[in-house]
Amino acid sequence: MVSDPAIVAAGEWHPPGSSRSQEARLVARDGKLVVLATQGGVPLAEAAPARLAISARVGSIPRRITFPDGSVFETRDNAGIDACLVAQGRRGAGVVHWLEQFRLRLAVIVLVAFVLGGAVYRWGVPALVEVAIWVTPPAVPQLMAKTTMETLDVTAFSPTALAGSRRREIEAGFARIAARSSRGAAAYTLNFCDGGLIGPNAFALPDGTLVVTDQLVEMAGTDTELIVAVLAHEIGHVELEHSLRQLYRAAGMAGLIMLIAGDIGVGVEDILAQGGGLLALSHSRSAEREADRRSVELMAAAGYDPAAIARFFALLEDRLGDRGGATILSTHPDTPERRKAVLDHARRVSEARGTAGP
Ligand SMILES: [Zn+2]
Repeated sequence: MVSDPAIVAAGEWHPPGSSRSQEARLVARDGKLVVLATQGGVPLAEAAPARLAISARVGSIPRRITFPDGSVFETRDNAGIDACLVAQGRRGAGVVHWLEQFRLRLAVIVLVAFVLGGAVYRWGVPALVEVAIWVTPPAVPQLMAKTTMETLDVTAFSPTALAGSRRREIEAGFARIAARSSRGAAAYTLNFCDGGLIGPNAFALPDGTLVVTDQLVEMAGTDTELIVAVLAHEIGHVELEHSLRQLYRAAGMAGLIMLIAGDIGVGVEDILAQGGGLLALSHSRSAEREADRRSVELMAAAGYDPAAIARFFALLEDRLGDRGGATILSTHPDTPERRKAVLDHARRVSEARGTAGP
């Protein structure tokens, strides 16, 4: 021996074409890599590093070093092999090791995708909803209102049984608040009808068609101001485009893109085809709160009690207590909290108006 062999790695050696193995170690000697049997130190294979096929590093999978004679030295000592390769001027880690880091990259990519997806949902859909509302021609809400009213007239409503004088009182109050609304009195039509199974309710369609049922008027007794406050709330829903917004949000990302990019009429027709689809939508809590605040503001502007809608909530709570649930509550939940929020907002609005009062 010319020089002390430097041990590169310990492992196993497989003879050519054999699965048999024997303990061995790889050493560097005289510019060659040599496999020596652990017991006895008999040389089993040797070759210049350049003639060896060295498998790439993949996690802790054993490295295979194939000699020109077909024999294989196998070791888990990655560090030893890499150090030897670096010493030989060959890259240690290799592409597969880089690929193994791919798992980390994949995790990062998935995370980024989630964050982007969340961002699209959080900001993209609301932005598209705004665009959709902006490009919606007036004919669409009109068509929606028409089909909804047709459905209701067939399925639920009968002509109003209210006295003409009572209707005129409510209409006069309604005209006062509608005149203060951002769209003006001409944008709204008030309809009375017997609500049948729908019971005491009031709702607005996106074209400004408002409906109040005889049952709600009866429930209010002589409190016309309360009815006007409820109608002001409905005007709030129309002004803030709550129904369209809700409908468009339900259409989702794909639906919205279709609506905006394509024929808006066709997309909406699908929803309209179900007739009364609008009524199945309940407004979100935040939409209800917004409409409540609008009621307070419109009522104050028209010289009414700004908090009049709070009396409606009190009435609902009484009914709920008495009868264990009224249909109107399912479309108008959280009454106690809303009543409190209305009173708070009414106080602020009154203060802002210099507590002049009606
Ligand atoms: Zn509402």
